[in-house]
Amino acid sequence: MFNKRTRIKDLLQSDKVNYQTTVMGWVRTFRNNQFIALNDGSTNNNLQVVVALGSLDETTLKRITTGACIKAVGEIIPSLGKGQKVELTATSVEILGDSDAEKFPLQPKKHSLEFLREIAHLRFRTNTFGAVFRVRHSLAFAIHEFFNKKGFVYLHTPIVTASDAEGAGEMFKVTTLPLDGTAPKNEDGSINFKEDFFGRSTNLTVSGQLEGELAAMAFSDIYTFGPTFRAENSNTTRHLAEFWMIEPEMAFSDLEDNMNLAEEFIKYIIRYAMEHNKEDLEFLTQRLDEEEKQKPQNDRSEMGLLQKLEFVVNNDFERITYTEAIDILKESNHNKKKKFNYLIDKWGVDLQSEHERYLVEKHFKKPVILTNYPKEIKAFYMRQNDDGKTVAAMDILAPGIGEIVGGSQREERYDKLTERMTEMHIPLEELDWYLDTRRFGACPHAGFGLGFERIVQFVTGMGNIRDVIPFPRYPKSASF
Ligand code: ATP
Ligand code: MN
Repeated sequence: MFNKRTRIKDLLQSDKVNYQTTVMGWVRTFRNNQFIALNDGSTNNNLQVVVALGSLDETTLKRITTGACIKAVGEIIPSLGKGQKVELTATSVEILGDSDAEKFPLQPKKHSLEFLREIAHLRFRTNTFGAVFRVRHSLAFAIHEFFNKKGFVYLHTPIVTASDAEGAGEMFKVTTLPLDGTAPKNEDGSINFKEDFFGRSTNLTVSGQLEGELAAMAFSDIYTFGPTFRAENSNTTRHLAEFWMIEPEMAFSDLEDNMNLAEEFIKYIIRYAMEHNKEDLEFLTQRLDEEEKQKPQNDRSEMGLLQKLEFVVNNDFERITYTEAIDILKESNHNKKKKFNYLIDKWGVDLQSEHERYLVEKHFKKPVILTNYPKEIKAFYMRQNDDGKTVAAMDILAPGIGEIVGGSQREERYDKLTERMTEMHIPLEELDWYLDTRRFGACPHAGFGLGFERIVQFVTGMGNIRDVIPFPRYPKSASF
């Protein structure tokens, strides 16, 4: 068997010494023809591999370069060097893969995040991205653990969908028809999608919610966790064209149950990462501290990353209605001094991210759950409140990010739902399958969508969403 090796994380965590072992990994640095800093991705901490002077021939020594992949066999001994308990004295070093030091783009120095984005295929091998993607993994794992423990069924909703009535965002078209103008046409000149692969016009999904609702009407509690696509041309630090979303849907639940679950869920996965990725989060906290030092005093955040996470898991989220939020914003000095790009002058306007950030970062200084939005600015499926003006929606806003969760109690009343769909010009025939849930055994139910990358951003403190997904897709960019 080739892969009989010890993970570097396990070696460094253990106090055991004086035994033979094999390690494999990538060379971060090689000093004095003697000290290899070896990393295998299990932790940011490198194992010091000491090559006994004179034990390796000149050719092998030359091939131990930054980026090269090696296998080292030797004895684990207590380390005399600072910062590590143990090291490996190598009796043999085998080069598994050479790396031309002149050409390897990752030099042992600080690179900018922008540069690393250009070489996203190699950035996994840096400390920052090592930490980010291990934390991302833990959060994904914690999500499944959370719902599994609660008895939710993990539902796989389709990636290719025919419905374009969800209105969650601009969609990417899926077609096998030729793009050179020879696609079959209808009499009126429009494309004849009956001739297309699926016999109709199809898109990439923007949300699995509607399908999720169908399953919740059978399993009671379900969740989805899959890719979603939005062709929105938003070049922000919080939007991707391809992102992952978690969408739980619960039968027998109202808006309050929904908020309680979302808050418990967010705290659970953050706590999980804090327990399982301590070193990575300490590293990311330091990274952020250094980044913050570059900013003017006023723009710096008051808490470090770990301190912020600690605070979030130990405190209740603030819960206020949209109407209360509008009052706070309208009366704020920020609004009076015209510091918002969009001034808040009346009830009914949609909140911009500057308003959301004001509420969480300046006013409440903690995550905020906003509820009961005007129905005009929310989706057709949200449950209408008795006031005739608002719907039972809830958005969760997080410091530094803005919206991380969007959810609602769903309109389970057939008449109310179809009435609203008609008002919003949503063709009932297209969603006939969805309406069946309201025809046959409907019940109060609720759910939400959490943007996975937004929570990864929040937990890792990374400023740009493009740096928390391995290969980001955004306008004019789909490399790798
Ligand atoms: P925003 O106002 O930030 O664009 P939205 O109102 O379009 O969000 P929803 O349709 O409610 O968002 O989607 C649910 C969640 O998915 C959001 O709360 C957010 O966390 C995430 N999300 C939405 N759009 C994107 C995107 N383009 N990239 C990454 N995450 C997204
Ligand atoms: Mn959006």
